[in-house]
Amino acid sequence: MSFGLPHDASLDVPERYFTLENYDGGVARWCPSCGDFAVLSAVQRICRDAQVPTEKLAMVSGIGCSSRFPHYMHAYGFHGLHGRALPVACGVKARRPDLHVWVATGDGDCCSIGAGHWLHAARYNMDLVVMVFDNSVYGLTKKQTSPTTPRGLATNTHPEGAFLPPLNVAETTLGFPNVSFVARTVDWNPAHLYQTLQTAYRHRGTSFVHILQRCPTYTPNVFDAWRQNPERTLLLTHDDGVPADDAVRRIYKSRSEHDPRDIQEARRLAAMDERLAIGLLYRNPDAPVYDDRTVAGLDTTREQKLAAVERALDRFAI
Ligand code: SF4
Repeated sequence: MSFGLPHDASLDVPERYFTLENYDGGVARWCPSCGDFAVLSAVQRICRDAQVPTEKLAMVSGIGCSSRFPHYMHAYGFHGLHGRALPVACGVKARRPDLHVWVATGDGDCCSIGAGHWLHAARYNMDLVVMVFDNSVYGLTKKQTSPTTPRGLATNTHPEGAFLPPLNVAETTLGFPNVSFVARTVDWNPAHLYQTLQTAYRHRGTSFVHILQRCPTYTPNVFDAWRQNPERTLLLTHDDGVPADDAVRRIYKSRSEHDPRDIQEARRLAAMDERLAIGLLYRNPDAPVYDDRTVAGLDTTREQKLAAVERALDRFAI
């Protein structure tokens, strides 16, 4: 009897096995019940399940509560300037294509001061996972109106209530040229959060994940409509979409079969007000990936580069 072992009874034991503790970068200092904890936990589980070596992992962020993410992961980390997470991440990926690069950015960081980079990161479509933590407020700077603050919500910058229509992160991203992956999930459903981020991690290209993230300190009721009535959440299902296990399907009974190749329908679903569509909105695996260009010449030696410059200049010798 072999008990499922190979005939030579050898065991395929990996040299290193990474546990959740291996990805733990220390005690996270977010407010109690902050949704950022759920995202951190999901990312650590994905890395553990994929057995990503910690030295092959880079976490990049801008400024904001969620941008403290790199401090709490045991990996390479870059806590950048406000709004600048995406160009830093693209630079890291261009020079170190072997790294798995994750970006933590918020609604303020990504969609306000970083908005120009948001558009161009989508266009370059480098192989990154971009988590946009949307808590509808600037939390780190203590309740200022952000681009996604709902109309009428009183903040410290608009005590009478925000008055501009809020920006819809997923819908806007779907309008960018060469965008290849847009999904939406919520931090209060850990199973769907995990499955969405895992699907993003497996996509080659820039995977934008719009995460509705609870901020119990400054916007405690902003997602009540969705949290208190799961019927108002529309679960997107498809063989090529985010897998939804039984636990997720039990909660979200309103479902829609959505082909993630259909960008027009993706935009309609992302823009809906009456219902919150979660799952994979759009994926185009054939969109050009800029990494294919930036890897060229990475193994060129200094001598080879100098010789190439000499050859180029010799063409203009007189
Ligand atoms: Fe989280 Fe809000 Fe506290 Fe920031 S202010 S850590 S987003 S609960």
